[in-house]
Amino acid sequence: MALALDGETRVLVLTGAGVSAESGVPTFRGIDGLWEGNRVEEVASPEGFAKDPKLVWRFYSLRREAALKVSPNPGHVALAKLEQRMGERFFLATQNVDGLHVRAGSHRLVTMHGELFESKCVSCQKPFADSKTYFDTLPKCETCGDAVRPNIVWFGEMLDPAHLQRISSYIAAAGKKLLFLAVGTSGNVHPAAGLVDEVKAIGGTSWLIDVDPTAHYAPRFDRVIAGKSGEILPGLI
Ligand code: ZN
Repeated sequence: MALALDGETRVLVLTGAGVSAESGVPTFRGIDGLWEGNRVEEVASPEGFAKDPKLVWRFYSLRREAALKVSPNPGHVALAKLEQRMGERFFLATQNVDGLHVRAGSHRLVTMHGELFESKCVSCQKPFADSKTYFDTLPKCETCGDAVRPNIVWFGEMLDPAHLQRISSYIAAAGKKLLFLAVGTSGNVHPAAGLVDEVKAIGGTSWLIDVDPTAHYAPRFDRVIAGKSGEILPGLI
């Protein structure tokens, strides 16, 4: 089976945690749902950072170390190749923060939930590349001296409206020629989970590729393929 892509087709891909999991990116939630005795929602929030920035930086430093130990999988590579072939008729929206799509060669993407290898000052807000770990001393802004935090969209925070605008504009411009591929995502996190409905509203086609398609999400797609993205995407593309 392969995707029927003619010269008019525009592809929008949405990736989620399943794609990262296939590379071995750990979720940092134990079987009790906790990380070192804390709820992840508590360390990944503005309130958690205000209360204990050292704990939050320990969490993200461990995540940076873990992400650098894994590699892009064949699913990441297949998407980068598809982008090479389709150019501006391809766009990727990822909910993953681990940087694996970029390491695989993707360029035309938005990172909806932020970037693990970026930090930003809580006052200046301008993100900058940062792969350092902070276990003992905490980073300070070189411009204003205020605290520096991971550039991640935390629980309770809004997604970057510019990112959402880019995705919606792409969908609107593609119209009926749009092929939407949701990969490794369970449709639990908004607004990413609502993209399939936006696609349907403009007459596009939508496919879901997931190891375990969820009952509340899968019926909203034209086609559902159960399986690993690293095994399915290379064949489709
Ligand atoms: Zn600053």
